[in-house]
Amino acid sequence: MRNYYIAGNWKMHKTVAESVALAKALVAELGSCGERVMIAPAFTALSAVSEAIKGSRIVLGAQNMGPETQGAHTGEVSPWMLKDLGVRAVILGHSERRHSYGESDALVNKKVLLALAEGLEPILCVGETLEEREAGRLEAVVGTQVREGLKGVRAEDLAAVTIAYEPVWAIGTGKTATPDDADAVHAYIRGVIAGLYGEAAAKAMCIQYGGSVKPENAAELMAKPNIDGALVGGASLKAENFGPIANFRS
Ligand code: PEP
Repeated sequence: MRNYYIAGNWKMHKTVAESVALAKALVAELGSCGERVMIAPAFTALSAVSEAIKGSRIVLGAQNMGPETQGAHTGEVSPWMLKDLGVRAVILGHSERRHSYGESDALVNKKVLLALAEGLEPILCVGETLEEREAGRLEAVVGTQVREGLKGVRAEDLAAVTIAYEPVWAIGTGKTATPDDADAVHAYIRGVIAGLYGEAAAKAMCIQYGGSVKPENAAELMAKPNIDGALVGGASLKAENFGPIANFRS
């Protein structure tokens, strides 16, 4: 049976106390959840949430990471600092980082390589804007983001990498790609991986879908052959929404 990877990106939401309360509610709600579940609170809440989920099956993630381990990098957070707090996974190249903060494929790739070198599991986010989709550039854009994001990643490190396909027009908008549309892009991404690393690696690659995933559409999306999990934004902020998404099979 397939094991799904359900991740929650809390973005710039919640104080430390609010984050701990949500983390504790999720520990209670997801006690018997068979999927791999990750939550990514704000940096300021990582330490407290790490304590709150200790002993549970929930994995601690970060929403971003600096491209160096230490030094004169004002405002950045090092993979060493993340590991020190119990972080195991890190979201990289989220569309908000790419589009609001100008992160390039080259920078995202540098972070992916550093995360792997430091033993963190990157979630590499890719996705096209509405303009790019309507101009027929979906595959060119997503293909480039996958190829450039994975540049220099060794085949033996690929198992630690997750790809999240997040059409930019579906993030936080309430618009979801239809399960068939999402699955088609996931199949395309799998083909790109096959071209880079071979069929077996492509088959094994975990590809999450992200973009207005909610309790009502999670099962339908997860039923698709190429969708291996979800990266959830807005609906990850309440246990009564994220719980049923992670528990979509029950
Ligand atoms: C996201 O930010 O990764 C995301 C998918 O957000 P939402 O679920 O709110 O669309």
